[in-house]
Amino acid sequence: MTDAAKLTADLIRCPSVTPQEAGALTLLSSVLTAGGFECQRVDRNGTPNLFARWGAKGAARTFGFNGHVDVVPPGDTASWTHPPFSGHVDDDGMIWGRGATDMKSGVAAFAAAAIDFVSQTPPDGAIILTITGDEEGPARDGTVALLDWMAQEGEAMSVCLVGEPSNPENFGEMMKIGRRGSVTYRVSARGVQGHVAYPHRVRNPLHALCWFLDGLASNPLDEGSEHFGASSLQVTTIDCDNPASNVVPEVATATFNIRFNDLHTPDSIDADMQQRAAAISAETGVAILLTPDVGAESFLTAPGPFVDMVRNVVEAETGLTPELSTSGGTSDARFVKDHCPVVEFGLVGRFMHEVDERVPADEVRALQRVYSKILQEYFA
Ligand SMILES: [Zn+2]
Repeated sequence: MTDAAKLTADLIRCPSVTPQEAGALTLLSSVLTAGGFECQRVDRNGTPNLFARWGAKGAARTFGFNGHVDVVPPGDTASWTHPPFSGHVDDDGMIWGRGATDMKSGVAAFAAAAIDFVSQTPPDGAIILTITGDEEGPARDGTVALLDWMAQEGEAMSVCLVGEPSNPENFGEMMKIGRRGSVTYRVSARGVQGHVAYPHRVRNPLHALCWFLDGLASNPLDEGSEHFGASSLQVTTIDCDNPASNVVPEVATATFNIRFNDLHTPDSIDADMQQRAAAISAETGVAILLTPDVGAESFLTAPGPFVDMVRNVVEAETGLTPELSTSGGTSDARFVKDHCPVVEFGLVGRFMHEVDERVPADEVRALQRVYSKILQEYFA
């Protein structure tokens, strides 16, 4: 048996802060190669990525796993109980270090499960692992680069499981079958500058901007859909930088972000936002310009055989029926969804990005068992 907990600790000892792989992909490559996988580095623009396949290219049934070995910086290392790249295992069986939950444990669990599965019960099909070194960073040359390269090479996954932490508190209580989309808007309001004592000669951009933002904040975009909660909008900054108390400024700016569900697309949101801005511009004479930056579209892997199979395995192995959730931030599943059905199941997300990130070794081994069972069921 390959021990995912030991592999997790070994991976933590590689200080792979984005975009450094620091030996993490080299280690995985050698472990997977020894397990019979064909491995290939698919680096792009200095970003390290690893592709690994067991079985024939183009096999009709190809199970995919996706994950990342890059981690966020540890912050002040003096604040850590054990050094962040020590991979220290304490007497209670806790593995310490940056990436313990997000997500070297997830990668170790699916790599270990895949290696043991193909050696014990070689399946009629193939298993592909796509492991990136750029999920925590800009994510431009990570999973996207792997998927681009795979399309070029005629490599494809029939389904894919992303091993990101998916449970809020208890192992087995939640899996993700979709994610909300994200778009950030930069707003510029340009009016007419002047003396505060002569209001008929100014057009105050701050008044128009506040009116516009208040309209956004006080009118929810929707009340949610079958598989998604309500879309949310948050204003993140309002700026003007005007030091004078007797001058109405010419320009004020703001930024807001929308996390939207499957009732919207970036285009439908933009049409709505532009219309609201135009109405207030017409009313106030202040030109409100909106510049959207789309981070992700929303997606849903509709409940069906693949979702049911993963849910049933999680239930059988953990005793909990996982909620089919679409909550949380974005993940690389947003790229995979363009290629094949994708779901996410991993560990409990506690301690992600925190000082003293750590994970119980037993939980890593439990995740390894879940992944093993999923492979057995998929190829049964
Ligand atoms: Zn992650």
